[in-house]
Amino acid sequence: MDVDPATSTDTGFAELGLRPELLRALADLGYEEPTPIQREAIAPIVAGHDLVGQAATGTGKTAAFALPLLQNLTPGGSDGPAALVLVPTRELAEQVSQAVHRYGRELNVRVLPVYGGQPISRQLQVLRRGVDVVVGTPGRILDHIERETLRLDGVKTVVLDEADEMLDMGFAEDIEAILTETPEERQTVLFSATMPPRIDAIAKRHLREPMRITMRREPTAADALPSVRQSAYLVARPHKAAALGRVLDVEAPTAAIVFCRTREEVEEVTESLNGRGFRAEALHGGLSQDQRDRVMGRLRAGSTELLVATDVAARGLDVEQLTHVINFNVPSAPEAYVHRIGRVGRAGRTGAAITLAEPREQRMLKAIERLTGQRIALEKLPTVTDLRARRLELVRNTVQTAMDADDLDRFRSVLDSLTDDADLEQITLACLKLIHEANGGDVDEPEIPSVAPQRERDVDNRAARRNGPGGERFDNRRPGRNRPGGDSVTRVFVGLGRRAGLRPQDLVGAIAGEAGLPARDVGAIQITDRFSLVEVPEADADRVIRALSHSTIRGRRPTVRRDRPN
Ligand code: AMP
Repeated sequence: MDVDPATSTDTGFAELGLRPELLRALADLGYEEPTPIQREAIAPIVAGHDLVGQAATGTGKTAAFALPLLQNLTPGGSDGPAALVLVPTRELAEQVSQAVHRYGRELNVRVLPVYGGQPISRQLQVLRRGVDVVVGTPGRILDHIERETLRLDGVKTVVLDEADEMLDMGFAEDIEAILTETPEERQTVLFSATMPPRIDAIAKRHLREPMRITMRREPTAADALPSVRQSAYLVARPHKAAALGRVLDVEAPTAAIVFCRTREEVEEVTESLNGRGFRAEALHGGLSQDQRDRVMGRLRAGSTELLVATDVAARGLDVEQLTHVINFNVPSAPEAYVHRIGRVGRAGRTGAAITLAEPREQRMLKAIERLTGQRIALEKLPTVTDLRARRLELVRNTVQTAMDADDLDRFRSVLDSLTDDADLEQITLACLKLIHEANGGDVDEPEIPSVAPQRERDVDNRAARRNGPGGERFDNRRPGRNRPGGDSVTRVFVGLGRRAGLRPQDLVGAIAGEAGLPARDVGAIQITDRFSLVEVPEADADRVIRALSHSTIRGRRPTVRRDRPN
């Protein structure tokens, strides 16, 4: 019996008092139960409390604030937004806006992402028509306030999402300016992965007796893990299904569980694995107990080697032969990671826990490492060559194992008849070929593009950011881009600053034009009154310094040298 998502109350969200439109949207999305941050944050935010939540990306924090906003919203209530969400980057603005849209589908909520780089005219049109929720980066929001194209006097709730990132990017003053444009009696919610004193200072100044929620660590969480090999692969979303297949191919687990976030994801992944020739079965809360029992029976009996499951469905599961736990994404909470991988570390058994992480989830891996006190090795995805080598090794292992068996004699008559016409070597090679083909055969797959690990601060920071008296900081790199040549960058001192009218684009232009370094490879730029500092890849530093020393910028020939470390 399939559970009807529209009437199912087993999502756990109903207990949080959410309206039926939201419950239906969540059930449709396949969310089976609230994540820890959602369980703790939703009710207080709905009740109107200010709140400070310490939670990183991947914990489900977006829904933790988006659902209460939607719960309290009267869509179309007025022309100006009733809720304002401030985020550090355009990617996050888009993501949060999409999430609000998805959860608020049945409420016809009007949500607009607002960020620099997008033509302002489109934003103006939508703003004129009226919006309920605005999600934006502080710089562009402030632009709209200054142009008087965004009025915040009807705002009931302000959310500061990834507040630490926003401060790191120099948005502190912008945030202050925006908050003063909103009604004093507003509700303010702040989420941040880390809680440095600067965040506390903001909370003290702008929040009223906030509730504080920290995703606590369980002291005993790491107990089960020592015998589990833990690793992670960085994979871009479009390549995840292929990456999962590749990892399973190379690991060749006896039995594995692939954990997914939602029922839909479970179904998609199961289908994709079966399409790739694996025998995978789905296990999620939408199945009846009877169906679940049958799936489990097949796994234990070995007729299924792969289970694709949500956390809820796999709760309490203990499968003796399990060798691998694979996280299709980084789990929503570090504690969930520990629970999942504890399934292969039981009773002294050894196993492997492998996580596919999108670049933006890297931070979450760090949070898990902090919780467990154990390293998760970031590894390179197996290449096609690795896979070919592994397939041949499997052939060898298969034969080796078969040679240990004592029932080989019954094939002797076949062998004897074959040796009439062929020599042993030829016969053996033919057998090896057959085993190889039974194991999946030749590898005919494209390479999966690898993603280099991101530095934590390597995020979108293109527009000018005010950053206190130390000068303005800019960052020219594209979002999600890694520095070429690894992390090794050099700060170059240029003896021209604001007084000479220097702008970041002058530096980027000169470096690109004179030294031939692509603009995207120019890193953070800091401009003070009298001088500037610009980061370039170490490998290009000398060339950049030579070229800039001989060029004229803003009509002057500046001193250019390596910055002396403090
Ligand atoms: P976030 O931490 O907000 O970036 O969310 C991380 C991911 O978890 C997003 O892809 C969400 O769609 C997903 N997610 C959030 N809450 C839940 C939930 N209760 N159950 C399953 N997936 C969720």
